[in-house]
Amino acid sequence: MKGVAILGATGSIGTSALAVLDQHPERFRAVALTAHRNGPALQVLAARYRPALAVVADGEVPSGAGDGTTAWRAGREALLEAATHPDADIVLNALVGAAGLEPTLAALRAGKRVALANKESLVCAGPLVLAAAERGGGELVPVDSEHSAILQCLAGARAGDVRRLLLTASGGPFRELPPERLAHVTPGDALRHPTWAMGAKVTIDSATLANKALEVIEAHFLFGVPYERIEAVVHPQSIVHSMVEMVDGSVLAQMGFPTMEIPILYALAYPERLPYDTRRFDPVAAGALTFEPVRTERFPAFALGVQAGLTGGTAPAVFNAANEVAVAEFLAGRAPFPGIAAAIGHALSAWSGGPAASLDDVLHADAWARRTTTEYLSRQAPC
Ligand code: NDP
Repeated sequence: MKGVAILGATGSIGTSALAVLDQHPERFRAVALTAHRNGPALQVLAARYRPALAVVADGEVPSGAGDGTTAWRAGREALLEAATHPDADIVLNALVGAAGLEPTLAALRAGKRVALANKESLVCAGPLVLAAAERGGGELVPVDSEHSAILQCLAGARAGDVRRLLLTASGGPFRELPPERLAHVTPGDALRHPTWAMGAKVTIDSATLANKALEVIEAHFLFGVPYERIEAVVHPQSIVHSMVEMVDGSVLAQMGFPTMEIPILYALAYPERLPYDTRRFDPVAAGALTFEPVRTERFPAFALGVQAGLTGGTAPAVFNAANEVAVAEFLAGRAPFPGIAAAIGHALSAWSGGPAASLDDVLHADAWARRTTTEYLSRQAPC
């Protein structure tokens, strides 16, 4: 029986993770559950799963919460308490944005397996995250479906076997929209993802393809593959979750109908496979599988993010923070859709650069990018 701390239990990945736990109560139990501000939703989950700890990261413990089983806490420190809980063997990090970084570092330093949905942790501070795992004895296992696919394709591969990683991207809801109409799309349009139901931030990232750039950087650190051997390809059906090309020319792909429950289960059970009751794959129902190049002129955020990865140091943290701010402004109706990439481009070109040698370096770059992007967007004409 493994104890699982779920950071971000009230979100999309958190909810899918609890569905996975429901199918394997003999293998996994929730020992800590956290929310950002949604105390009432967390209260419902705590009553059902009876974790040892429930945390509201930014807000108050709901009145009437707490019983003999669950200790309730509030605040950032309490989030780190959940990430390092002594009963947790696995910490599923399903937080959104750079807010996930410190919990990832804390869990790895405490020797936990981190089932990582929060790709932003690796993007902001890849080298620090890998160093924390090495020093603390922790382990990173990806939850992102693309990286889970790659991990599965790499089973049995030796160092030197891999020629290229091919990440698939759905292309989002605007893949075929005439570019001149992008300035007029609404948050509602952008939130209608064609193949995946996800939280708001990652859904917008999928519409701009900033998500795919975050994933290229994530793959670089997770699998130690140089950027020039990681490519993205648009695959609108989201059936092939990613591919690995070997040096002999063989290409391995991992496939299935889109669901996050399978990669979550794999990250929890890895390297074991556990039975799971979900919609069985039917290649005939899946239909034709098509692939297209990523059109960077339509999705400039993708190219900016990959370039930030290549630049290295604190550039990926600046890319990530500028993107987070711009996405929030777009969702609030204060910035147009193309303003997201424009704001990222502005922040990256204004940033002086520097190494990401410490957490302070990363947090400084993150704070600078947030200020710069907020100022930049406030100077633009209202949409
Ligand atoms: P959601 O917005 O659905 O859920 C986020 C969860 O984290 C909620 O529990 C939320 O609490 C909590 N949270 C948000 N911000 C903070 C913060 N600053 N501090 C503490 N807690 C916070 O997000 P998703 O589940 O969609 O995504 C989570 C991560 O997984 C992201 O990094 C995303 O890119 C990645 N991912 C998601 C996929 C998906 O299918 N959803 C697929 C692949 C990757 P509250 O409910 O109180 O707001």
